Amino acid sequence: MSYYVEPEYEQYAKAIFGNTPEMIEFFSKILDYPFPWDKYAQVVVRDYVSGAMENTTATIFYEHLQVNNRYLIDDNHDGIIAHELFHHWFGDLVTTESWANLPLNEAFATYAEYLWNEYKYGNGDADAWWSEELSQYLSEAETKREPLIRYYYLDKEDMFDSHSYAKGGLTLHMLRKLVGDEAFFTALSLYLKKHQYQTAEIHHLRMAFEEVTGEDWNWFFNQWFLSAGHPELTVTDTFANGEVILKVVQNQNLTYSPLYRLPLYVDIWTNGKKARHYIVITQKEQEFRFKTNQQPDLVFFDGETQLVGEVNHERSIEEYIFQYKYSDKYLARIEALVRLSDQINENEQVRETIFLALNDEYWQIRQEAARAFEKYSGEKDTPKYINKLKEIVLKDKKSLVRAVAINALAALDNQSSEIYLQTVNDSSYAVAVNSMYAYANTGGANVQDVIEKFEKEENFLIVRTIAEFYSAFNTENKIEWYLEKMNKRAGGELLYLLDYFANYLTNQEADVQTKGANLLANKAKNDPNPTTRVSAYLALKRLDKVKGLKEILQEIRSAEKDKEALNYYDMIKE
Ligand SMILES: [Zn+2]
Repeated sequence: MSYYVEPEYEQYAKAIFGNTPEMIEFFSKILDYPFPWDKYAQVVVRDYVSGAMENTTATIFYEHLQVNNRYLIDDNHDGIIAHELFHHWFGDLVTTESWANLPLNEAFATYAEYLWNEYKYGNGDADAWWSEELSQYLSEAETKREPLIRYYYLDKEDMFDSHSYAKGGLTLHMLRKLVGDEAFFTALSLYLKKHQYQTAEIHHLRMAFEEVTGEDWNWFFNQWFLSAGHPELTVTDTFANGEVILKVVQNQNLTYSPLYRLPLYVDIWTNGKKARHYIVITQKEQEFRFKTNQQPDLVFFDGETQLVGEVNHERSIEEYIFQYKYSDKYLARIEALVRLSDQINENEQVRETIFLALNDEYWQIRQEAARAFEKYSGEKDTPKYINKLKEIVLKDKKSLVRAVAINALAALDNQSSEIYLQTVNDSSYAVAVNSMYAYANTGGANVQDVIEKFEKEENFLIVRTIAEFYSAFNTENKIEWYLEKMNKRAGGELLYLLDYFANYLTNQEADVQTKGANLLANKAKNDPNPTTRVSAYLALKRLDKVKGLKEILQEIRSAEKDKEALNYYDMIKE
């Protein structure tokens, strides 16, 4: 087991990669298949084309994995580490037979992120991952709907999309919910053992599930792996004569997508108790009836929240409040909270529910509740909310909750700024950054002194914040600071800094502008990346007090050899 990083990150390598041995143990156990290779190395490189690559026994990662312990308070890289590791079974041990079957590699590696989250951090983190992946897929599906297994694609790169990854991972999760954990992991193990050191296609996976469960799974694989699209459902529920009538309509365009067969649960809550019903949707329009002795508190569709698709099921404010308070599922509760937060100003009962959520066991729910209070513009009970938010910014054990609570507190109380002098020293970068903004926005004294203390930090969140402050406040004598930070960076981070630097320079006198112009001209001519050269050129162009600027710009344009950059210069010529 080895980790390769640049010398200055050696001291953090174990903090970054240190969960790897436990991941290997966990994955080996659930797959009933020990790690198949005799060593595992993880190597960080510069300027890599993507996030990572699962070269057998020597995974490569891009440089953004190199972070310090302070960064790791807010976030970690377990997801990508678990993903590449899982490829050592799904991808390296059993390899997709053809590019068309790429989800046999990527869907599994993506799902490994869920599995690790669930095992290590609990179902809140795993389910938060689930809903993030679903949004990713649904947003891609607005412009692209392909079968997961695709024999027709224009470019090999087209397969690296939120179908192969996100939808693939979510589809495996649905399959797991359908067959149960024992059958699911036994089938994966069987698939690995049958096809080890060989290639496989999607039907081999189906047959492994069929062998383990004794059931036919063509219907599932056909609609989810071999067809495009997803269910778009409208669900309504009504209560009459001792019956809940649930109506489900499949609205997806049947020319491109299948009519789905969807086995799932409907939870009917009465008197605070849940009764679970199993249904199988098979028709375009279908009605289900459930005997209930009274009007239910809530009818909750897809009780396990596992369906990959869009479900439009309207509920009242009261039903959402009930859903937040009574559901035992993270996804149901966060859905309710997000819906309710739009009503924080209008409805006191809603506001009190969100206030309650500031104490929730799940940190993502506390964070969402704090975010909702940022939108509160009323007068009523403000001191109570302010006190609670103050307690959170100082004491919540999750840094990302403290960070969001700072924004909410600053929005509710724009008078007192002292507390941010305390929180700006929080161990978390996210908290420190939000504290800087909050301190400035609430009129704190000597903002510049507070900011300057962070000048030596290399964390990009901090650097970007300082760059923005110095340009907004026209802080004197900061040109050297910008130069130093820009010289250490490349790619997207550098583009941000170039932009702030140009903002900064436009408000400076001729001598400072000229000094900055030299640096920008140098970048515009010599940076190896054409995008950076063009950005430096555009930044330079904005400086109005530099003598001979026209000639300098002309010189840069004539020295340029990159075709796209030249086209761009032609396009923007006045
Ligand atoms: Zn992958």
